[in-house]
Amino acid sequence: MSERGKLLVISGPSGAGKSTVVAKAIEGRTDICFSTSVTTRSPRPGEVHGREYFFVNFERFREMVENDELLEHAEYVANRYGTPRSYVEKRLDEGMNVLLDIEVQGARQVRKKMPEAILIFIAPPSLVELERRLRGRGTDTERAIEGRLIRARQEYQEADFYDYLIVNDDVDKAAAKLNAIIEAEHCRFGDWANWLKSN
Ligand code: ADP
Ligand code: 5GP
Repeated sequence: MSERGKLLVISGPSGAGKSTVVAKAIEGRTDICFSTSVTTRSPRPGEVHGREYFFVNFERFREMVENDELLEHAEYVANRYGTPRSYVEKRLDEGMNVLLDIEVQGARQVRKKMPEAILIFIAPPSLVELERRLRGRGTDTERAIEGRLIRARQEYQEADFYDYLIVNDDVDKAAAKLNAIIEAEHCRFGDWANWLKSN
């Protein structure tokens, strides 16, 4: 059966461990690809244009919004982030599962445009632990860390439309939960009803 891929939306506060858990979960899997977002934020040390993000200026970002090139977009702690639409559509049509790592406003837009998307929220065990991880990562200024902690509290209040919550206390366990969700979603009866009738 040629099945259209699943759109997997991962959100959660910056520093919750989304990138770490996703990297672990998709290790060795060839059926999942990651959609690289566009952002106006500056690259962190070690980040590569086209790998972590496409880094663009505000002017180019505005142009992409005007041309309807983005599936969703949002502002996050004084920068703009968005998902290029054409890549996502193409990979889903090819049967690939496509994973987005986006914040809550963007996830809400995806839910409206593509109700079949699977929305997963990854949270740290506590906000104290979140702060520890953000500082431990050593990539953000004090001001950025404070902004991210404020935003985390806001996101918790708005996240009630997600399908799944994974608490990332342990990377291996959280990655196993993410893979279990993906497997379960591929067993949805609705996706297989025609196959069953034709057997
Ligand atoms: P995000 O992608 O959500 O912003 P990262 O994956 O960059 O978060 O993780 C933030 C920091 O927390 C990193 O230094 C990472 O190594 C660490 N981390 C991730 N998951 C865990 C965990 N379960 N326990 C302890 N530290 C973790
Ligand atoms: P960071 O600056 O830490 O890489 O990302 C900050 C936040 O922006 C994270 O919550 C991340 O999920 C979110 N983000 C990254 N790419 C996108 C995107 O394309 N769209 C939206 N809406 N949020 C994004």
